[in-house]
Amino acid sequence: MKKNKSIVILTLMLALLFILSGCKPQNLRLVKEVEFVLGTLGQIHVYSESEKQGTQAIKNAYTRIRNIENMMSTSIEGSDIFLLNEYAGDQQVNVDQETLYVINRGLLYYDLTEGDFNIALGSLINLWSIGKDTARVPSHEEITEAMKHTNISDISIDNQTVIIKDANMRIDLGGVAKGYAVDEAIKVLRSEGITSGLVNLGGDVYALGNKSDGTPWNVGIQDPELGSGVIGSVPLVDKSIVTSGDYERYFMEGDVRYHHIIDPKTGYPVQNNLRSVTIISDLSIDGDVLSTAIFIMGVDKGMALIESLDNIEGIIITSEKEIYASSGIKESIKISDNRYKLREF
Ligand code: ADP
Ligand code: MG
Repeated sequence: MKKNKSIVILTLMLALLFILSGCKPQNLRLVKEVEFVLGTLGQIHVYSESEKQGTQAIKNAYTRIRNIENMMSTSIEGSDIFLLNEYAGDQQVNVDQETLYVINRGLLYYDLTEGDFNIALGSLINLWSIGKDTARVPSHEEITEAMKHTNISDISIDNQTVIIKDANMRIDLGGVAKGYAVDEAIKVLRSEGITSGLVNLGGDVYALGNKSDGTPWNVGIQDPELGSGVIGSVPLVDKSIVTSGDYERYFMEGDVRYHHIIDPKTGYPVQNNLRSVTIISDLSIDGDVLSTAIFIMGVDKGMALIESLDNIEGIIITSEKEIYASSGIKESIKISDNRYKLREF
């Protein structure tokens, strides 16, 4: 009896020691793989017990991302979105449960952002073709015409079938699908036993767990001026951090920068003094949408929305090199570039 008791105590003490030491399995290896997915260079880093486990986990995560791309891409023939657009004004399409989830998320955010985020902007987005060889400034007439076909209530859902009622409307999930893919990639890594890693799909980043040394990941905030280098960083554990910037995909004509975030109210790429919006959230799908939408809203309206939402933090950088950070992140953001100044809003 006494012996049993001391064994229990010893076991408890060992368990406590393990907890105090940070439960840190030693000798974790860093495994990284880069692959081209969802129109961007994806990067996945994991700390794993063996190279084999890490490589396998990353491989499965990329397979999952490609699977999402094959459902939600506008350009892959036979994808749910390709078919919906192909049959617009004509036939309903039976879409995957996941495509439906992302479409519904898009509809929800249309309401929350008062229409600034609109998955029905496809015809306008195609007209501008930002990021493609065919990108050009369309005529006012073309823009007015395309804008007539962006009415979100023309997307009609009945159980798992969807129809676009307007023959000239196109759905574009470019502002939301990447975030969803990041969330699903993280689920795969977790299911493969990975507790520490980073997924980066072209600016949609998720910091999984702590680094292998038990300290938070420090995720850099890109310098919008250079489109490379960082102006500072934030410490993150199990959080998504997504940035939308006007330097990501754009072309210049004269001194106007035509970039890939379209203001549905004007039909043109947003012209305000914002250079980038970074959103920190639990799910990357939310960060993806909000970074795009808040870019359109600007500092005042955007910051007010961020502050009104639970578990959402944001950082806005303007062309005057001002940084606005929401109340929950202001204390922890580290600014390393002294040309940039933190401002109150
Ligand atoms: P990136 O894909 O470079 O990370 P964003 O997440 O900011 O960029 O999303 C921009 C993409 O979202 C555009 O390329 C386009 O496909 C789509 N988009 C642009 N403007 C809007 C908008 N107002 N509402 C919804 N989607 C948009
Ligand atoms: Mg986005």
